[in-house]
Amino acid sequence: MQRDSYAGFQPLFKSFATNAIHVGSEPEQWSSMAVVPPISLSTTFKQHGPGKHAGYEYIKTGNPTRNCLERAVACLDGAKYCVAFASGIAATATITHLLKHGDGIVCMYDIYGGTKEYFREIITEFDIDASFVDFTKLEELKAALKQNTKMVWFETPTNPTLKVVDIQACADIVHKHNKDTLVVVDNTFMSPYFQRPLALGADICMSSGTKYMNGHSDVLMGLISVNREDLYKRLKVLQNAVGAVPSPFDCYMCNRGLKTLHLRMKQHFKNALAVAQFLEADPRVDSVIFPGLPSHPQHELAKRQCRGCSGMVSFYIKGKLEHASTFLSNLKVVALAESLGGIESLAKLPATMPHVSLSKDEREKLGISDTLIRLSVGLEDEEDIIADLDQALSAAHPKK
Ligand SMILES: *Cc1c(COP(=O)(O)O)cnc(C)c1O
Repeated sequence: MQRDSYAGFQPLFKSFATNAIHVGSEPEQWSSMAVVPPISLSTTFKQHGPGKHAGYEYIKTGNPTRNCLERAVACLDGAKYCVAFASGIAATATITHLLKHGDGIVCMYDIYGGTKEYFREIITEFDIDASFVDFTKLEELKAALKQNTKMVWFETPTNPTLKVVDIQACADIVHKHNKDTLVVVDNTFMSPYFQRPLALGADICMSSGTKYMNGHSDVLMGLISVNREDLYKRLKVLQNAVGAVPSPFDCYMCNRGLKTLHLRMKQHFKNALAVAQFLEADPRVDSVIFPGLPSHPQHELAKRQCRGCSGMVSFYIKGKLEHASTFLSNLKVVALAESLGGIESLAKLPATMPHVSLSKDEREKLGISDTLIRLSVGLEDEEDIIADLDQALSAAHPKK
């Protein structure tokens, strides 16, 4: 029998697999009745007469292959609309164009390094101020909301320390403060298979399609889903005006990846849970952070808010930087590399990768020490991943 929920978690979304496979890919939309959507490379479309077109004009405003992807993602996110972008950060940049000079963003302090950099270094130049607080403490969020706060931004679980933020509680606080303040949730770490922020009060759900949605580490993609028609219309205008759109080929690839999202997420969760349990029981490891473990500080919230967990597991190896380095250099199945959410297992040391722009104090506050290792647990055989971690831990901590 197919499982309809994971123990303690919210039930899985109904018809997810059927929708992922069929929505947006209906053969009837093509005169050829192609079952697989064609890759439409044309940048322009012939018009019947001036201003009279068949739904497409120019590649930036719309493209048949992109349209298939956008319709599929909207459905999976439980949204009315989706708009696709050339990368996750292009989606982020476009969302910030919803703001005006003088507006403010309140942001979770623990977020993807690129987003933090964009908010701290780039948009401040346009007189949009960003402040960073801990959204796991709702009073900190409350205190940070100002007259000019027009956007609130967070991820859950966060990167790289996998803190879980209560989407519904945050959205309620923000909308009580000002119903027009936009709540944006970066859903990259969960994918819509495990979490739908729009149903929990968020105004905008964005994700880097580069990660789980495409899932094969071979496409750069950004996705924004919304239910509000006014936001959709504005984002469509911005998608064209800013022009950071994905190529038809990448849209095709990402849509193809989506067709197996449900299978991949199930296996990511299974493998990640096994890895987390292995690490937690290992004396060479100080502690493990995985929202699916009862030891996670927000485990109960995760079960209330999510349908399961993705493949992201972080842990603190015993010792110092040299132990972490030896561990990482000795991995064989797991690759030491940036990014996440692909079929292959990856590991990184957040302290020395993009977070380097953070001061030592900031890193400490975030819990990003020299011994924190982030894993994106892939879809290899569970016992091979664990055996690899085991031998690399032995290399870092040889028996005397
Ligand atoms: C990778 C990532 C992004 C940025 O996406 P790109 O597609 O690399 O531009 C944003 N948010 C999170 C959580 C990410 O992991």
